[in-house]
Amino acid sequence: MPDTEKIYERIMELRKQIEYHSNAYYNLDTPEIEDDEYDALMRELRELEAQYPELRDENSPTVKVGGAASSKFASVEHTVAMQSLRDVFSMEEVEQFCGDFPGAEFVVEKKIDGLSVSLEYTDGVLTRGSTRGDGRVGEDITENLMTIASIPHRIKTSAAFLEVRGEVYMPRKTFAALNQSQEENGQKTFKNPRNAAAGSLRQKDASITAARGLDIFVFNVQQVRGITFATHSQSLAYLAECGFPVSPEFTVATGYEEVAAAIEKIGAQRGILEYDIDGAVVKVNSLLLRQSAGVTSKFPKWAVAFKYPPEQKETVLRDIEVTVGRTGVLTPTGVFDPVLLAGTSVSRASLHNQDYITQKDIRIGDTVVLRKAGEIIPEVVSVAAHGGGEPYLLPAVCPSCGEKVFRLEDEAALRCLNPDCPAQLLRNIIHFASRDAMDIEGMGPAVIEQLIASGRIQSPADLYGLKEEEISSLDRMGKKSAQNLMAAIERSKSNDLYKLIYALGIRHIGESASRLLAERFGNMQALMEATAESFAAIDGFGEIMAESVVDFFSTEHAKELIRRLAAFGLNMQAQSEERAHTSNKLEGLTFVITGTLEGMTREEAKALIIANGGKASGSVSKKTSYLLAGENPGSKLTKAEELGVKVITLNELNNMLSD
Ligand code: NAD
Repeated sequence: MPDTEKIYERIMELRKQIEYHSNAYYNLDTPEIEDDEYDALMRELRELEAQYPELRDENSPTVKVGGAASSKFASVEHTVAMQSLRDVFSMEEVEQFCGDFPGAEFVVEKKIDGLSVSLEYTDGVLTRGSTRGDGRVGEDITENLMTIASIPHRIKTSAAFLEVRGEVYMPRKTFAALNQSQEENGQKTFKNPRNAAAGSLRQKDASITAARGLDIFVFNVQQVRGITFATHSQSLAYLAECGFPVSPEFTVATGYEEVAAAIEKIGAQRGILEYDIDGAVVKVNSLLLRQSAGVTSKFPKWAVAFKYPPEQKETVLRDIEVTVGRTGVLTPTGVFDPVLLAGTSVSRASLHNQDYITQKDIRIGDTVVLRKAGEIIPEVVSVAAHGGGEPYLLPAVCPSCGEKVFRLEDEAALRCLNPDCPAQLLRNIIHFASRDAMDIEGMGPAVIEQLIASGRIQSPADLYGLKEEEISSLDRMGKKSAQNLMAAIERSKSNDLYKLIYALGIRHIGESASRLLAERFGNMQALMEATAESFAAIDGFGEIMAESVVDFFSTEHAKELIRRLAAFGLNMQAQSEERAHTSNKLEGLTFVITGTLEGMTREEAKALIIANGGKASGSVSKKTSYLLAGENPGSKLTKAEELGVKVITLNELNNMLSD
């Protein structure tokens, strides 16, 4: 006889663990375990609850859609629930599912790994966008969704009302670039594209969302008034006609064999697509049949999500290479015999830091198990067998300059603190010249490496003292390229102040923090003289960031660098009037912008409103304080008039700001 008390305890423990991880994943966007580990907990709970029905509970995570609507955003009640999908992990379960619908057609689609959103169109105009939340109540993120280029703001449709559901995702390349820049700036990196997408979309400041390069695939019609469809595939074709990027390359299949082939075809593409997928979705095609199949509280009975098992392979660790990053951090990278994993050949993986190596007891010569976390980033799961090597210790001195390295309090990383370390210098200057920083076109790593090796540059300031002959004498550098590079160096002198602040590579200060600093202080001198307290008033600026800026400018090294850059004629002033002149004059007011404004783009007007404490929203509602209207205003004007929202011109907005 099984001990029911023990079973009950296990069920309670599983529910607690699942709820903890759901909160970390859905609400905080920082998962602590891999999806397959989470799925295993959920499966165990589901099986126990099926075996012991008396221990079921309507609040169990097996019956509720994961996630919650945060109070950060206005809430949206979904007329049609945004449900989850039933996971299956074996082909037998898929076969069983197909067997429940004899003779039926199925649609097999990629299961895009992002986050679910709803988009509502009234008379063809995007009026509202929201997250799934707990399936019944989501968050109003209209403004953020409007910044995604592939989401149409207006569609050609005869439907009076159309609600579609789609998956917002971050393409892999965008994710890799984002994480690299987050890492370089000492900011939090994202575990996978899904979390990066969720973290980027649920931002209070829509301009951050706009900068993150998100995309969407639309995969369902939730509601439609004025048109009818007989099948799901018909509705997808219609959505494509309307201009939506729809669920890519879906297959219509009849019977299990065809479904299985489609699942296999999708599986073979895992890891080589431009976006992440975490399975294949099999859906009944006939909408009538769907209706008769019905739904449970958590998912529809007419669909299943097949989850591919994560690929793991054994290989031998041949070497550990240690490199020094821009911030002086020593990073160990494992070099392995190449193995094919999730579609690409893997021969290197980060071993992160000493703690990671010690915990897993990774030694050179070991046979290790590799996998791709989230099917992208290769990682060592465990050591399968030691190969006779000694426990591995990171070097006590910097591999680039030979100076002693330090482990700072509260950090797992070892750091080289020598400001003249050549490895750091190289990365500092690469960062300084990069596009988001000083944007010196043509000043790439190969050129910088040669300039450092020849002793010609020891600081970013030296770039501005370069002569054309010095550049044209470098490898693979013709006269014309040298002239172009000289012109690019010259042009960068007049960059806006925030670019220079970002280029300095201050720890924890990324591009958006640099913009905040330029806005707040207006010029470099004021920023250099700022005390830690003066940062407290900047929204979005933490204590660690403030300390980092103060520490940076307290060094002679930094003061000398700025003095030299100024002597070379670099711009030290914030250029944009709007940015420099911020206020709280529009606090508590929500604006919607429509039509063509005179002398300003809508984006600029939005920035102006936000810089003065106001909110800019995408759709007119009772909560809208003003509609800022230009030429050819469209349906927002009609809506504003209907609701009695005050309509103002750009001149009137400027008057409000100058009062
Ligand atoms: P789900 O993500 O497995 O399935 C439902 C979702 O699939 C829908 O919300 C929908 O937006 C999306 N989807 C993508 N492409 C689709 C398509 N073509 N057709 C239909 N839907 C499509 O279900 P869930 O309940 O939202 O989340 C469970 C997932 O989240 C699991 O993969 C789980 O591993 C993961 N998770 C992980 C952790 C963790 O800590 N690692 C915690 C919680 C959840």
